[in-house]
Amino acid sequence: MKDNILEIKDLSVGFNIEINNVEKFFYALNSINLSFEKNKIHALAGESGCGKSVLINTILKLLPKNSLIKSGEIIFNNQDILKLKNREFRKIRGNQISLIPQDPFMSLNPLYTIENQMLEVLEGNSAENIEKIKWALNEVKIKNIDNVLKSYPHELSGGMKQRVIIAMSLVQNSQLILADEPTTALDVSVSNSILNLLLDLKEKGKTIILITHDLSIVSNYCDTTTIMYLGDIVESADSSKLFKNPMHPYTNALLKALPTKRGERLENIKGQISPITDIISGCKFHPRCNMASDVCKMKKPFLCNYDCHKVSCWLYQKTSL
Ligand code: SF4
Repeated sequence: MKDNILEIKDLSVGFNIEINNVEKFFYALNSINLSFEKNKIHALAGESGCGKSVLINTILKLLPKNSLIKSGEIIFNNQDILKLKNREFRKIRGNQISLIPQDPFMSLNPLYTIENQMLEVLEGNSAENIEKIKWALNEVKIKNIDNVLKSYPHELSGGMKQRVIIAMSLVQNSQLILADEPTTALDVSVSNSILNLLLDLKEKGKTIILITHDLSIVSNYCDTTTIMYLGDIVESADSSKLFKNPMHPYTNALLKALPTKRGERLENIKGQISPITDIISGCKFHPRCNMASDVCKMKKPFLCNYDCHKVSCWLYQKTSL
């Protein structure tokens, strides 16, 4: 049996949105069931607007005021964190579960030096804590550690800031790290070194959920891959399985949109992802799917398990209209 650090059960989340002076509720996540095995890197992938960030913000209890969790449980270390009061959850967020954000500048206070911010995490400037933050900065391969500690965030490059954030999760000894598009704002060479740091974190026993829209990095770095589309899981499997045999037309379309040979024309995915305020009948991908049939427009497919490879598509399910 797998040793899971996090289990999401039947999670449905949405937002109250005002349209023409009338407030209506729209789902952003629909009955999500996912489990994350310890000491692995798990990818959550899909285009912007597919629900990845809503899922991460639900785990971190950082949803905006107009949101509503309609159903579900999020079990972290055998307790449902959705049932915890904010005061209780603050002891977990930033300690046992930490976030590597897309823009590290947003997570660092521009008024404090890196040393002050890292010591604040450890609640005290004892010699032992200073040694600990130096160890963490060394672990994320920062050179000139003494200079970096005296620096303010604006004096560091994007890659250095991202390393500092990762070092913070090391000093906090977080078990679960949520990395939300951590390389989007970085150059390719810097982004590779940050992704290699995620592999180092895994070797140190951490579990990482990597949110990305870029499938090219997923196959190299992630043990499992889950593809989301408009708040649904459409495909989920071990990465080796999913990339060898992608089953869902959306996954195939994402893969075909990746650059392969130099000079080769890239394929676009037809149309655009719809806003959550558009209600789409049947399979939500059907307006963009080249394989869509009548049933796809009328009935929503279920997420079915085919030899540990889950996919939600009528191409693999028997149905009658
Ligand atoms: Fe395409 Fe139909 Fe499968 Fe949806 S259910 S992905 S529309 S073939």
